[in-house]
Amino acid sequence: MLHVGINGFGTIGKRVADAVRVQPDMTVAGVSKRSPNFEATIAHDRGYDLYAAGDDGRVPFDAAGLDTAGTVHDLVEVSDVVVDTTPGGVGATNASLYEEHDTPAIFQGGEDPDVADVSFVARANYDDAVGADSARVVSCNTTGLSRLFAPLEESYGIEKARITLVRRGGDPGQTSRGPINDTLPDPVEIPSHHGPDVQTVFPDLDIDTMGMKVPTTQMHTHSVNVTLESTPSAEAVRELLGRESRLFLIPETLGIDGAGKLKEYTRDAGRPRGDVWENCIWAESVTVEDNDLYLFQAIHQEADVVPENIDAVRALSERTASARQSIDRTNDALGVGRGLVEHEGNAPRSTADD
Ligand code: NAD
Repeated sequence: MLHVGINGFGTIGKRVADAVRVQPDMTVAGVSKRSPNFEATIAHDRGYDLYAAGDDGRVPFDAAGLDTAGTVHDLVEVSDVVVDTTPGGVGATNASLYEEHDTPAIFQGGEDPDVADVSFVARANYDDAVGADSARVVSCNTTGLSRLFAPLEESYGIEKARITLVRRGGDPGQTSRGPINDTLPDPVEIPSHHGPDVQTVFPDLDIDTMGMKVPTTQMHTHSVNVTLESTPSAEAVRELLGRESRLFLIPETLGIDGAGKLKEYTRDAGRPRGDVWENCIWAESVTVEDNDLYLFQAIHQEADVVPENIDAVRALSERTASARQSIDRTNDALGVGRGLVEHEGNAPRSTADD
């Protein structure tokens, strides 16, 4: 079993810990936090060993009556791999800690690309991370775009991608975020940082991105236009995308017209926290005009990077033979694809080629 430590037990960290726990080849070595807030009590209730990461060490946890197993240094020492899920920018300050202990580390998309040896999306470049000392699981938006581009590039070639990202203002717990009642070009400069971030995974991709922020905490929505190097039919594209295990084509018959119903659907399906690990593509939006492909997809910012972190752990520790093996194992254990009806006419779901 791989002992996986999670440093930073917030929105992403608690989901990664729960995902590690259900993998057949991994166990949670422990989780670390700075403060003994409600998430620390959840870690305790889940039975995860809790380690103190703040400057005051175990003192605040002792005061709150929460047992700790040590400090973050002890956590790194007992971990085969550490997943750093601290807030954006904090991960880079932890890099020397992981190096000191010679412990492979996975960072998140809030860090600059140079924090790690490779920027990672399992479907796009798993092999680049095999045996590396560190990887950065790219942001939720970059993950969502990369999962879409990988099969399109392999099957049709991509001449140019133009994406408008309509981004949620904050996560449900981020009470300080906004806008409350506005629609912001964000960032107002073009391209937004998302295009260059996708190029850390697809270095040769010609892509322009524009970002906006709107007052919702549900999901991001991407308006996608990809100029392909060939001219497939819309039906062929739907079938191609429908075969991808981490893309969900929303059948028109479900009557899902937005992120609210999507989240309701996954809650009804029994997903933990209502998480949507898959890109959700409206099947009837998939349109091809000459060699221009258009579609809308929704991305659950709190969830889509979770299976990618699990695959990154396997890649760094060289525990599986291939991307496909890891993706399938992660999907099976976590339940990716489970509870969602298949789009009519899709081929049976499977992971794409290695
Ligand atoms: P978060 O604020 O919800 O959680 C961060 C956790 O780390 C908190 O529990 C905090 O107490 C703890 N922490 C703070 N400083 C720490 C330190 N020095 N050592 C240990 N723990 C510390 O943040 P998040 O939303 O989970 O984001 C984590 C990373 O994931 C960021 O890089 C972010 O950009 C990225 N990410 C976030 C989302 C999202 O939508 N939330 C999506 C994809 C990627």
